[in-house]
Amino acid sequence: MSLTDIKSLNISELTELLTSRGHQRFRADQIYSWLHQKCVTSFSEMTNIPKKLLSDLESICYISVANIEKKLVSSYDNTIKYLFVFPDGEYVEAVVMDYRHGYSMCISTQVGCKMGCTFCATGKGGFTRNLTAGEMLSQIHTAQKDLGIRISNVVLMGMGEPLDNFQNVVRFIRLATDEKGLNLSARHITLSTCGLVPKIYELADLNIPITLSLSLHAPNDEIRSKTMPVNKKYPLAEVFKACRYYADTTGRRITYEYAMISGVNDSDDCARQLAQHIRGTLCHVNLIPVNPVEGTGYNPSKDKRLTSFVSVLSGYNINATVRRTLGSDINASCGQLRGKNLKNKGGV
Ligand code: SF4
Repeated sequence: MSLTDIKSLNISELTELLTSRGHQRFRADQIYSWLHQKCVTSFSEMTNIPKKLLSDLESICYISVANIEKKLVSSYDNTIKYLFVFPDGEYVEAVVMDYRHGYSMCISTQVGCKMGCTFCATGKGGFTRNLTAGEMLSQIHTAQKDLGIRISNVVLMGMGEPLDNFQNVVRFIRLATDEKGLNLSARHITLSTCGLVPKIYELADLNIPITLSLSLHAPNDEIRSKTMPVNKKYPLAEVFKACRYYADTTGRRITYEYAMISGVNDSDDCARQLAQHIRGTLCHVNLIPVNPVEGTGYNPSKDKRLTSFVSVLSGYNINATVRRTLGSDINASCGQLRGKNLKNKGGV
């Protein structure tokens, strides 16, 4: 019989599990608090729970943990990159950024990714498995404990395509925003997708006020299909339509992430094409000079290009900002650290 990830259960499911096995209801609140507020990693730490109950739980459940395999601190800007390892030996990456408004953490939602974007180190390594909601929470729990801080913003933009792990990701969002848990504001959670159109509609209809961030990276289907295979299945017109639906349904502004790749997608004409698609919609454009990834041949756009691209967009009243790549000395773009670690261990 496979064990249940107890950290992925909500309070009603935990209560149901306990009462179905003859335990008292009030124990559920106590155990939930050990898991989600004190963030214990073993049952033996739950000191106010009877031993008999704990050993019963241990026979059917496990507590997910994300252990630190590697931790790199950027000497430029204090960005911290973690390589976490789960008990089954799988690795994921996460990054903690220290912003003026608080600590923000970018976490992973899958081990690897199926989407195959050509500029991404994770995409190159293929897909291994989905993460459970408990494993997503554990990345935050471990970092908070390690750094002695509270994470106030979470971005689902690490390894994996969150909407390809829809049920677990929605479960994570509900648990992370629970006031008896991390108590994050949904408005402080951003989900980044490469554009799985049906799932964008499904997410919109749940009406959870999280921010949707679309990894756009190209102004037309021709360029986008070359770098993002998902575009062949869901072309840009459909993606923009789904994003408009999301913004109209939730009232939340869409963020378009656009990795600026020198000579590929950074001309003024590209900026004009992009503007035609999104003018007049509730949105913001983040331009990110691409991080050089070994073997892709892509280089970041020069400053002059970035400035020119922004000014074309602002001519159409579209807000755009350039986001500097954080932690560029510590392989902060997703999948690079895991790739190196696997290589060192004789993997990919
Ligand atoms: S960019 Fe995101 S969606 Fe694309 S391959 Fe990388 S992890 Fe997957």
